[in-house]
Amino acid sequence: MATVNKNYLRLQGSYLFSRIGEKVRNFQSENPDKKVIRLGIGDVTRPIAPAIITALHSAVDEMGQESSFKGYAPDLGYEFLRNAIAENDFKARGCDISPDEIFVSDGAKGDCSNIQEIFGSDNKIAVCDPVYPVYVDSNVMAGRTGEYDDITEGYKDVIYMPCTRENGFAPDLPSQVPDLIYLCFPNNPTGAVITKERLQEWVDYARKNGSIILYDAAYESFITEEGIPHSIYECEGAKECAIEFRSFSKTAGFTGLRLGFTVIPKELTAGGEKLWPLWARRHGTKYNGAPYIIQKAGEACYSQEGRAQIKEQVAYYLENAKYIYDGLKSAGYEVYGGVNAPYIWLRTPGNMTSWEFFDQLLEKVNVVGTPGSGFGPHGEHYFRLTAFGSRENTIEAIERIRNI
Ligand code: PLP
Repeated sequence: MATVNKNYLRLQGSYLFSRIGEKVRNFQSENPDKKVIRLGIGDVTRPIAPAIITALHSAVDEMGQESSFKGYAPDLGYEFLRNAIAENDFKARGCDISPDEIFVSDGAKGDCSNIQEIFGSDNKIAVCDPVYPVYVDSNVMAGRTGEYDDITEGYKDVIYMPCTRENGFAPDLPSQVPDLIYLCFPNNPTGAVITKERLQEWVDYARKNGSIILYDAAYESFITEEGIPHSIYECEGAKECAIEFRSFSKTAGFTGLRLGFTVIPKELTAGGEKLWPLWARRHGTKYNGAPYIIQKAGEACYSQEGRAQIKEQVAYYLENAKYIYDGLKSAGYEVYGGVNAPYIWLRTPGNMTSWEFFDQLLEKVNVVGTPGSGFGPHGEHYFRLTAFGSRENTIEAIERIRNI
C-alpha cells in the first residue's frame, strides 16, 4: 500500500497568502462596490523593460529557424548568461566568482527550497524569526525540523533567531551552533539590511563552526546605501562557508518569466565533501534548465540599455517605498525597512495583533497588507506593506491608512 510522506502532515495550516486571499475574496464578495488595494503579496506590477522585450522577440525568432533553434539548455545554464552574471554581479564588486560556480535556474524559490536536499537529514537549521516561510517548510517536508510546538509556535528542532527592533532586525549569533544558517538580506519581510561588518561576523562564525550559510540575496538590486554588501562573497572567507541565491524576479520583473541562479563555490565543503558536484548532480538529475529565450532575456538585463531600464524600474518601486515609509511615519506609525528594500515593516498601532490590524485595514479602508505574525512569532504586532503596487494605488492606499 502506498503511503504519504508523513513530514508533509507536519506543515502548519494553509500557506499565509492563501489565508489572506480567502479573507480578501470573502470581503470582496460581500462588498462588490469597494475598491480593494493590494499591498500584500510581493509580486511586481511594472511591465518588462523594452531592451528585455527586444531580446525575447529575437530569441523567439531564433527558435523558429533550423540554424539557430535550441533544445535542452546546458546543465549549468548558457555560458553567455553565466559570463554576464560573473562579470557584472560579482567581478565588478570585487568577488572572485567564476561562471562555472553559477547554476542558472528558474528562480530562487526552487533553489532555496531544494538546496537542503544535498545536506544530511540530521543537519540542524537556523532561521530568522520572522522569516520567508519557504526555508522552514522545505525542511519540514524533508523531515529535518521535528514536531511543531503550538506553544512556541515553532518546530522543536529548528533554531529560531529573533529579529527585533532592538537588534535592527538582523539576528544575533546563536549560542546553539546550527549546521545550516538561512540568512536573507535585504530581508523579506522586514526590509532590513546587514552591514558588511556584521555579515563578516556571520562568515567568521560559520567558518569557525563548520556551518554553511544559505544566503538569499533576491532583493540585492534594491540596496541604495553604501556599506551594505550586495553579495556575501564580499566578505573574506565566504567562499569557504556560503551558498548564495539570486533572482531576476524583483530586479527585472521576471516573476512571470522565471529566472534565477545559485552560486556554489568550487572549494566549498560540508563535512569534508565538496558541495559543487552534489548540486551539479542534483541539477542535472532533477532539472532541465531555464528556457533559452528566458536566459537571453536575462542576458539583456546586463546590456547598457537593459541595466539602465531595470534600474529605473527598481527606482520606481523604491519611490513607492519612500512614499509609504514617509507617509506612515508622519502619521505617527513606527516604520522600518523601505530604504534598501521594497518592503515596509510597521508596528501595529495600539498593540493590535497583526491579524486584527489586517482585518481593520481590509474592512475600514480596503487595503490589503501581510500580517507579520504569518512570518513567525516575532513578527507578531508587525505588518508588511510592499512597494510593488502602481504609484497611484500606493498613494491612495497610504492616504486611506493615514485617514483611519
Ligand atoms: N527569496 C525571497 C526572500 C523572496 O521573497 C522570494 C519571492 O518573494 C523569492 C526568494 C523567490 O524568488 P523567485 O521568484 O526567483 O522564485
